[in-house]
Amino acid sequence: MRIILLGPPGAGKGTVAELLTVRHGIKQISTGDILRSEVKNGTELGTAAEGYMRRGELVPDSLILKIMENRFLEEDCRKGFILDGFPRTILQAQSLKTILAGLSMKIDAVVNLEASDDLILRRLTSRRTCSNPGCQAIYNIYTKPPKVEGICDRCGSPTIQRDDETPEAIRQRLATYQEKTAPLIDYYKNDPAFLSIPSLTPEPVADEIARLVSERSR
Ligand SMILES: [Zn+2]
Repeated sequence: MRIILLGPPGAGKGTVAELLTVRHGIKQISTGDILRSEVKNGTELGTAAEGYMRRGELVPDSLILKIMENRFLEEDCRKGFILDGFPRTILQAQSLKTILAGLSMKIDAVVNLEASDDLILRRLTSRRTCSNPGCQAIYNIYTKPPKVEGICDRCGSPTIQRDDETPEAIRQRLATYQEKTAPLIDYYKNDPAFLSIPSLTPEPVADEIARLVSERSR
């Protein structure tokens, strides 16, 4: 099962991806994670990527795609993978398509998680994160409050609202998403693997994705 997850920040991509990895034994791949692991392992591609990162430059698409291509072939991706947060641009989507064709792999589902701006604002502004860098437990003032208000259950440090989760910051992130990434939905819309699902709670969304993928592979 190979899946691309699209959707605005706060649509719940991470949670849905996690459910699918646990249930179907597939691997979640994010560009941040694969870059970090290449750098850590000191591979040739990792060393090249580290140079860009150290200079504060964006790692070029060609390098990211090369690293991704190697990643797809690893043993833990045998049952499939979920791309979360990639591709971000139409150019990346086109290159990804070429790479997958070269590996004789196909994407079973391109899933757009739909969420209104209001829902995202409510979800993200209600999030609190443990201020202890070694803990970073995540809470939600409505759905998963800590036992003592403002105090992390796990380590007792104060919980805080992250700077990028204030209403102003979230409106800005949504505007950036609309401008940069939303055009991807138009790019994929006519692909037979494209599905658009309202992002309500993660379980039914994960069920629906699995159902549609198995229906399509029949
Ligand atoms: Zn904590």
